[in-house]
Amino acid sequence: MLIDLHAHSNASDGTDSPTELIASALAAGLDVVALTDHDTVAGHAEAAAAVRGTGLTLIPGAELSCQVDGISMHLLAYLFDPAEPEFAAERELVRTDRFRRGRAIVERCRELGAPISWEQVERIAGAGSVGRPHIASALVEAGVVATVSDAFTRDWLANGGRADVRKHETDPATAVRLVRAAGGVPVFAHPGAVKRGRTVSDQVIADLAAAGLAALEVDHLDHDEETREHLRGLAAELGLLTTGSSDYHGSRKTVRLGECTTDPGVYEALVAQATGARPVTG
Ligand code: AMP
Ligand code: FE
Ligand code: FE
Ligand code: ZN
Repeated sequence: MLIDLHAHSNASDGTDSPTELIASALAAGLDVVALTDHDTVAGHAEAAAAVRGTGLTLIPGAELSCQVDGISMHLLAYLFDPAEPEFAAERELVRTDRFRRGRAIVERCRELGAPISWEQVERIAGAGSVGRPHIASALVEAGVVATVSDAFTRDWLANGGRADVRKHETDPATAVRLVRAAGGVPVFAHPGAVKRGRTVSDQVIADLAAAGLAALEVDHLDHDEETREHLRGLAAELGLLTTGSSDYHGSRKTVRLGECTTDPGVYEALVAQATGARPVTG
């Protein structure tokens, strides 16, 4: 069983359409893939239609933008009821603020001499939940930086960088409760990804465990071996499960689907906690 519980489509900052993502998952030999676009469920229906008859199982999910003590963090949510109004309203709030903030970042990049435009970013993002990776692609197109990842430095888009503008991000304890209230299962995405900026303390993770967090995403390319060991120990202490996933973004990042995976027993335990939606079996 090959299980990858973190992947993005062009409903957010991935480059595969949901249909292409399902094809990529099959090509990678996966048995289970979760679609976890940033702050949106817009890709769910297309992905569900695409798994039909393939034998692949789709876990509908999302990755929520959160912030605590000024530190940005991501919360994965699986198998929640997408129609539950309180959680849907919070996703909508974050998505809406992404537009204000996207325009502000583009403005800032222009002040810093980068010849990009909001129209260009809109073209790149299409219908996707707009974010810094789309602006990074615009900077690549304009020849300002060579790669998307080169745009994530203090010179440009990195947290605290010259052209970084914050967006509305949910308090993670509130987000954990919203996900649970919608019947979903909340998992802390890449909690030790230091290359993205500051990370939260073990105390914050303990508080989230008390609020209803289910698991930590331990096996992730942004974690070194020492970080993984520490997170595994912390999860054991707090009674949390541990997952592993690729965080695939299509051609916008170099990571491949299935590069990190989740243990089948952990997967079953997560699904057993969900009451908001069922896995979509192809
Ligand atoms: P946003 O949601 O607009 O705040 O942008 C965050 C997204 O940017 C993340 O989901 C990643 O896809 C991407 N990202 C953040 N840090 C990096 C980095 N150091 N290198 C490449 N991509 C990054
Ligand atoms: Fe992303
Ligand atoms: Fe993330
Ligand atoms: Zn992600």
